[in-house]
Amino acid sequence: MQLLIDSSTKDLFPWINAFRKELGEEKVITWDGITDPDDVTTAVVWNHRKELFERLRNVKLVASMGAGVDHILSDPLIPGAAFISRVISPHLSEPMSNYCIGAVLYYKKQFDKYLEDKNRKNWDQEFEPEREIQVGIMGLGELGRDLAIKLRSLGFEVFGLSQSRKKVPGVKSYLSTESDEFLKQINLLICMLPATAETNGILSKSLFDRMNRGSFLVNVARGHHQVNEDIVEALNSGILAGAFLDVFPEEPLPESSPLWTHPKVFITPHIAVVTKIEAAVPQIAENHMRVIRGELPIGLVDRSKGY
Ligand code: NAP
Repeated sequence: MQLLIDSSTKDLFPWINAFRKELGEEKVITWDGITDPDDVTTAVVWNHRKELFERLRNVKLVASMGAGVDHILSDPLIPGAAFISRVISPHLSEPMSNYCIGAVLYYKKQFDKYLEDKNRKNWDQEFEPEREIQVGIMGLGELGRDLAIKLRSLGFEVFGLSQSRKKVPGVKSYLSTESDEFLKQINLLICMLPATAETNGILSKSLFDRMNRGSFLVNVARGHHQVNEDIVEALNSGILAGAFLDVFPEEPLPESSPLWTHPKVFITPHIAVVTKIEAAVPQIAENHMRVIRGELPIGLVDRSKGY
């Protein structure tokens, strides 16, 4: 009944300590500590080693250390009967909403224009300092819903797109099959979709061509949602008036990418949310115990949907 933790990109030391406090010293192991692979109930992972699930054939729960599970679902060796979970917490939705509200206000208050003015030492009081902004959120899930509610409370018009119809007060909900109507309503699009085969490359020319001219794009979901070349082209042709990007198909973003120097692009290095150990560990430890008791984990992923 052990919990194993593995990641090629995270410092595991604080995670191991936190899990040991929750579950006891001997219950928490890493790859080097495996003695009986069949005794490992839970694998907690973030970009795990390729061979991990060749050994852990009887694992009952594969828990993501964050909100995304694309790094798990892309591994064909995950045992078919294992539950997959991701972290659901206000510790994720709050910073994500704060990031997106920051991006929305950046365009609302035209800080992009005033930054350019500053660089040209241009004192322009004549310009109307606020833009009319209608926000569209693609993906009204855990994170999108929190953002939609908060943007509404700030007085923004908000529209949402999802697979199933949502009831969020004051937010008009569109189905993915109604994306044309959804895109017509908005001039600022925030991508909060999960990474699935269907959403891969969704932020590309065919979508931009259906947007209102001069719209803004915010991507905080996954880099593979976006086609960088199409974003640059849409910015240069005026279809997009600005792009606020936290994620990229290749991270770190290569120095050669034209996004770095494009005047209409704002870049942050995939920091919209950094998972807090104190939020993730108690929930994953609870899930470990739930699975041992034969109960469903919190944040259960639907493997057939891919999120
Ligand atoms: P979630 O709870 O799984 O919600 C996903 C939403 O997307 C659901 O509303 C779903 O609709 C909708 N959806 C799925 N496929 C769709 C499609 N083809 N067209 C339209 N809507 C679709 O996801 P979440 O926890 O909110 O996370 C959202 C994204 O943020 C994920 O990609 C995650 O990896 C990313 N993320 C990024 C960071 C960062 O630091 N940048 C941090 C955390 C998370 P239904 O509800 O109808 O199924």
